[in-house]
Amino acid sequence: MNGRNISLNLNVRGLSPSATLAINARCNELMREGKRVFKLGLGQSPFPVPGIIVDALRNHAHEKDYLPVKGLPELREAVANFHRRKDQVNASPDGVLIGPGSKELMFLLQLVYYGEILLPTPCWVSYGPQAQIIGRNVKFIHTTWEERWRISHEGLRRYLEQENDTYRPRLLILNYPGNPDGDTYNMEELQRLAEIAREYEMILLSDEIYGQLSHSGGHFSIARFYPEGTIISSGLSKWCGAGGWRLGTFTFPKPLSWLLDAMAIVASETFTSVSAPIQHAAVHAFRGGSEIETYLCHARRILKTLGNACASILTSAGIRVHKPEGAFYLFADFSPHTSAFKSRGINDGRELSERLLLDTGVAVLPGVDFERPLEEMTARLAYVNFDGAQALAASKQIPLDQNLDDSFIQTHCADTLEAMKRIAVWTTS
Ligand code: PMP
Repeated sequence: MNGRNISLNLNVRGLSPSATLAINARCNELMREGKRVFKLGLGQSPFPVPGIIVDALRNHAHEKDYLPVKGLPELREAVANFHRRKDQVNASPDGVLIGPGSKELMFLLQLVYYGEILLPTPCWVSYGPQAQIIGRNVKFIHTTWEERWRISHEGLRRYLEQENDTYRPRLLILNYPGNPDGDTYNMEELQRLAEIAREYEMILLSDEIYGQLSHSGGHFSIARFYPEGTIISSGLSKWCGAGGWRLGTFTFPKPLSWLLDAMAIVASETFTSVSAPIQHAAVHAFRGGSEIETYLCHARRILKTLGNACASILTSAGIRVHKPEGAFYLFADFSPHTSAFKSRGINDGRELSERLLLDTGVAVLPGVDFERPLEEMTARLAYVNFDGAQALAASKQIPLDQNLDDSFIQTHCADTLEAMKRIAVWTTS
């Protein structure tokens, strides 16, 4: 049996299943044992897929043919128009590639691109492991709480200036609104980062999968300021609540079509094309319309109200957390409590999240899963453990020009608030 392990590819030896999927399995196990568990681990949209898109899928269930590797032409066109409309970029259908989730497309990109990968941290759990599987060189640039966990243009320049090889091929991955931090960039910051990217001839992978879940409704793409070097990543998983449908999109500018073509060749030898009914349904999602826009306005309003309520509960317990700007995550910094934790035998972020789960039933992911140092007392909290369908229906009864009040959150997101209170009490006890 050991012989099998020895013959594993060196790049995958010792890798564990993706952290978010592993925490979900652990929670399910505890629940089977009869424990009350608050699932703040897996970052899945709490909202249902909008009705018209579900109807579209039903209507296309009979579609059975393999589709072109790069994607259904109508869908490529709808995605290009989506970015033209939403992000004011000059996207063209030829520049769109459809894949079974943006995660798979990122893997293909890292596979076909030979340069170095730059990752500001904290960053999404899978970028680093994907690079490791492929054997790519990754450089992490750690950001700080004071910087709102964002890479500043000064920080990026400082990093690049200390590297001696100015024009080494590099791919910088930016994710905003961000997982695990829920923070985003303003237009000026994007402009400045774009200037540096252009100066160093870097390729940007702009992971905007949460773009439509920017709480203010105002999301800007860096592709506006660096169109020739930016690939925009999006998909149905977050803003459309359809993670399990597995559909992601990459949108390339013309000068990067060589990367698209190389990825499509690998796709043709691996997944062939994304499921046909899903692609047909996705056309309706990317074309948008008033029902989808209304759905998004309500989803944003709920997430904003809940995220702020969660942040203030944590802040009142001396946990450092920013008011979220998008998505459904908070990246909590427990470092003011480090010495108290150490006297309780909690010495690093992983021990923190394990003890929190055992003592309170609240499942979170430690900062180390987001490429932060193990000893750092940080964790990601996904505030999604509520019934999104019920909350959406209730929000639709309240005019959109009104704010949701505390009683709305108390009624519809009680378990999420309870989880935050448990974290606060546990931290200060
Ligand atoms: N990027 C980020 C930042 C994410 O959070 C996720 C999903 N958790 C993905 C990419 C991948 O999403 P999908 O494969 O479902 O498109």
